[in-house]
Amino acid sequence: MHVIYGGTFDPIHHGHLRLALEISDRLSVNQVSLVPCHIPPHRGDTGATSEQRWKLLELAVADEPQLRVDDRELRRAGASYTADTLRQLRHELGPDAPLAMVVGTDAFAGFDRWQEWQQIPDLAHIIVVRRPGPGLDPDGEPSRMLAKRAVRDVRLLHNQPGGLMLELDPPLLDISATGIRERIGDGRSPRYLVPDSVWREIRRLGLYGACPGGNF
Ligand code: ATP
Repeated sequence: MHVIYGGTFDPIHHGHLRLALEISDRLSVNQVSLVPCHIPPHRGDTGATSEQRWKLLELAVADEPQLRVDDRELRRAGASYTADTLRQLRHELGPDAPLAMVVGTDAFAGFDRWQEWQQIPDLAHIIVVRRPGPGLDPDGEPSRMLAKRAVRDVRLLHNQPGGLMLELDPPLLDISATGIRERIGDGRSPRYLVPDSVWREIRRLGLYGACPGGNF
């Protein structure tokens, strides 16, 4: 099964990386693809450019064969719509290959505002990862869709190309990219929240207000 995990990754941090590995283990797949979005349609400007975020991701997964970076959204002009990405992958993988996308409950709560959201479940399975916070509105469209398509047995996902949803509740690290950007902007170290190679590159490029070339 091909599994993608999309996000802004501004910057990638250990919360994302741990989750990607947990997903890979729990779904019994060899690899999870991290897909940084180019122009996030649902948020404002990013702290780093697309290319800088991609470079940080490459550094973060460099020594981990279970993770890879898929830069297809960065190579596409315009906004990054998940439906387009899944359609492209479906075309590459063929009609029968199982394909799944990972999304946190925070992002899934607004699923019915995504471009072509009603088509997305037919293109891929959706893995919804429970995150702390208000959760899903029980009367909302995302909840209804989840109730209709949810399965408990991971193995079912491997037997069909898409259409199913699976809720996972893995242990999560309480780290956010927003917190990291704020910390760096305040002159505090984000060490141990991001890989050292990522922090080194953030400083080298002077991202998020980091002092270029500064020490740990
Ligand atoms: P920001 O603080 O800028 O909103 P973020 O840290 O939430 O960023 P995103 O790039 O927006 O990161 O998130 C990409 C995906 O990763 C989303 O599906 C989100 O739910 C999930 N995610 C973010 N932080 C964590 C974490 N600590 N553990 C697990 N999943 C996370």
